[in-house]
Amino acid sequence: MKIPSLASGYDVVVLGGGVAGCVLAARLSEDPGRTVCLVEAGPDYGPRQQDWPGKILDSRALPREDVWERHTAFYRIRARVLGGSSCINGAWNTWGSHADHAEWTHAGGARWSAGALEPYRLRAVERMRLRTVPDPELSDWARAALTAARELGYPEVDMGTPGPPGHGRPLLNSLDGLRWNAAFAYLDPATRARPNLTIIGGALVDRLSVRAGRVTGARVLLDGRPVTLAAGMCVLTAGTFGSPAVLLRSGIGPAAHLAETGIRCVTDLPGVGANLSDQPGVFVPLTPTDGLNRALAAKESAGELYVSRMLIRAAGEFCPDGAWDLHLLPTAGPPLFGSLPPGQYEAGVSAFLMKPVSRGYVRLRSADPLEPPAIDPGFLSDPAGRDLAVLRTGLRKAEALAAVMKPLAGPAEAAPAHTLPDSRLRERVGTYWHPVGTCAVGPADDPRSVVDGEGAVHGVAGLRVADASILPTVPAANTQLPVLAVAEMLADVLRG
Ligand SMILES: Cc1cc2nc3c(=O)[nH]c(=O)nc-3n(C[C@H](O)[C@H](O)[C@H](O)COP(=O)(O)OP(=O)(O)OC[C@H]3O[C@@H](n4cnc5c(N)ncnc54)[C@H](O)[C@@H]3O)c2cc1C
Repeated sequence: MKIPSLASGYDVVVLGGGVAGCVLAARLSEDPGRTVCLVEAGPDYGPRQQDWPGKILDSRALPREDVWERHTAFYRIRARVLGGSSCINGAWNTWGSHADHAEWTHAGGARWSAGALEPYRLRAVERMRLRTVPDPELSDWARAALTAARELGYPEVDMGTPGPPGHGRPLLNSLDGLRWNAAFAYLDPATRARPNLTIIGGALVDRLSVRAGRVTGARVLLDGRPVTLAAGMCVLTAGTFGSPAVLLRSGIGPAAHLAETGIRCVTDLPGVGANLSDQPGVFVPLTPTDGLNRALAAKESAGELYVSRMLIRAAGEFCPDGAWDLHLLPTAGPPLFGSLPPGQYEAGVSAFLMKPVSRGYVRLRSADPLEPPAIDPGFLSDPAGRDLAVLRTGLRKAEALAAVMKPLAGPAEAAPAHTLPDSRLRERVGTYWHPVGTCAVGPADDPRSVVDGEGAVHGVAGLRVADASILPTVPAANTQLPVLAVAEMLADVLRG
């Protein structure tokens, strides 16, 4: 592959072509005087839909194509393709509460308030073509859930803004079944035609080149061969698992962990890879009636069956006034994992813990960039058991919703999920796939923090991080829209 400017380098090299990486590359290359190179480990399928795998485009299911590890724990699943996890995700978009933004402002300053992020949220909504779930995409199950939520007293709310707890339909980056990913949205043909933008797919970032406390470029494996890309600035956007791994391989991270892996410590930053926060959830299975199975089959044969199209944001016992810390998610359709005989479907309601206090980590197993990192999401691990308590509250609320929807699906289990012993709940825990926090924003004197409010890495010049890893706490939301908005904001900061 011939790479323009390889010898002379680039003004900015963006490392990781996912949701945030696509935003950064597109926005920073708007200035024709700035050369930008976007590096992605997975393939670049280009701007034309017909060149993409059908499964990646089909928003009715969660694909397992173009992922880092095919057979792995569910919480490790993440995309390896230009467009990142927007190519394999549920295409749902929601926004966090005012309490989330109070936490973020405390960590990152005024730029992180809901008001300051609003113009960037709107930019992302427009670019990703987000729109509310249209009526034809509602199954009988989703319609019944909307009615049941009203009956239970949850007010209707706009899921794209902070507002109060309540029920509603999410915003979708899905256009009549087409998953409109961040590569389509931000790297359209006109953007790709810019002479100052280079996109390199199939290039694995090994580590940063650091000289005298300044990043001067990145070493990548291109078709297995090491190549060094010189850069005036590197912006790391390899995601919550990828970004801390690149920093650690570069000697930026906790000194003791680097010593264990035989990596020379360049900057001792204990927060790198710590503070991993993801949203665990438990599914309450129900048995669909024959009538519901028939209605779902009819919807499927019309090509309009979507497993989930509404949600409830609800408050547990520790939740600040006006906020929510639970998502209740009714689903009905083909199972996420495995399969059922034709004409039969899986139905149920999940309760997701949106504001867990438990924390996990990402660490290296070795300095080898080809070896996947060790990841522990730390689900339900807080010693006081607060996360388990709130999850049980969520399950009680999920079961109350299911009780109202009983004419369509009855209980599938003898004991209600909220009464299960802790050990059984732990076994059943799944994820909403919204990991954040492994390069968290915060003041330089906070040992957990890695970057400042502008994404600049503490103690290292010429380096920013701008993806989900920098969110200091997980918002009470699906993370794609918050990551897009934060990336838009940081692109503006870098453009000056
Ligand atoms: C299965 C699944 C379902 C989800 N569903 C939803 C949903 O419905 N709604 C929602 O809001 N959010 C959802 N999410 C979360 C959302 O997709 C993420 O929050 C978002 O993609 C994070 O963006 P990012 O830029 O931080 O990381 P990513 O989008 O994951 O991008 C990181 C990119 O960096 C690349 N990379 C990593 N390491 C390297 C390296 N060493 N060298 C080169 N490239 C590298 C990766 O290949 C990837 O392309 C889901 C996630 C998953 C996995």
